[in-house]
Amino acid sequence: MTAEIDTKVTERLAELKPAESRLASYVELYRRLLELRVEDSYLPELELNISEAAKRFGEGKYVLRFEDLLLDWEQFQKLFQEASSIVKEFSPNASGLGGFVSPGPLLEKAARAWYENYPPEDMEGETGVSWELLSLTIGGAFHPLLARYSEVLSPLVNQDSWRQRVCPVCGGRPNIAYLSKESGARWLVCSWCDTEWLFLRLECPFCSNQDQDSLAYFTDENELYRLYICEACRSYIKAIDLRRTEGDTLFPLERILTLDMDRQALQAGYKPGG
Ligand SMILES: [Zn+2]
Ligand SMILES: [Zn+2]
Repeated sequence: MTAEIDTKVTERLAELKPAESRLASYVELYRRLLELRVEDSYLPELELNISEAAKRFGEGKYVLRFEDLLLDWEQFQKLFQEASSIVKEFSPNASGLGGFVSPGPLLEKAARAWYENYPPEDMEGETGVSWELLSLTIGGAFHPLLARYSEVLSPLVNQDSWRQRVCPVCGGRPNIAYLSKESGARWLVCSWCDTEWLFLRLECPFCSNQDQDSLAYFTDENELYRLYICEACRSYIKAIDLRRTEGDTLFPLERILTLDMDRQALQAGYKPGG
C-alpha cells in the first residue's frame, strides 16, 4: 500500500456521487481521511532492526507494538490534529476531540487503547466524545503512518507460516479479503495498514471456526464479490475474486464500492468482523 495508491483511490472517490445523502457524506469523510499523508521523505523510525522484526514474525507475534510507534509520536499528533478537524466537520458530536489535541497524556492513553484493542473505561464520560468517533479519528490518523511501516515490514512476512487472524505488521483485523488471480487462495487485507496476508479459505478469520456446516459464502451475479459468513460468531467479511477482475484492484476503494454488501449483511444479522 503506497501513498500513490491512496491518491488514485481518493481521486476515484471524488467521482463517486452516491444519491443517498448519508452515504454521500460517509464517502466524503472516508475520502478526506484517506488524503492524510506523511511527507514523502518520511521513513519510520524503526528502532527494532530487521532481524528483530523477523524474530517476532517467527514467534508468531505481529511486529509493531505500541511502544514502537511512540517514536513517531510527533507525526501522529500532527495527523491526529488534522483527522480531528476533518471529523469535526462531519459530526456535531465531535467537538470534544479538541481535548485530545491539547498537550497531556489523554491522546496517548486513547491511542494505546485503540491500538491494543480495549475500549477505555470512563473516557467517553470524561471527554464527551464517543469511542466510535474517537476510534474513527485515531484510525484515520494512524493509517498513513502504519501504511508506511507496512511498506518496510510486510516484505519480511513469511506468508507460508503466518496463518493468524491478525495482521503480521500491526495486529489489526482484516476487513476485506481477496482470492488471488493465480490460485484462488484467500488473502486478508488489514483494515489499519493494508498489509495483505495469506489465510485459509475454509476458516473464519475472526473466531477460527473450521466447521464447514457453519461457514458459507454468497456471491453476486457476476461472481466477482463474495460475502463470507460465520454462524459461530455471526461475523462477515467481504472478498473480491481477482480471477474475475482486470487491471489493478484498489482495496481502499473496494471497501467503499461494496458498502451495499455491508448493508445486506447487517440486515441479515451479521456484524463486520474487522
Ligand atoms: Zn496491519
Ligand atoms: Zn467466526
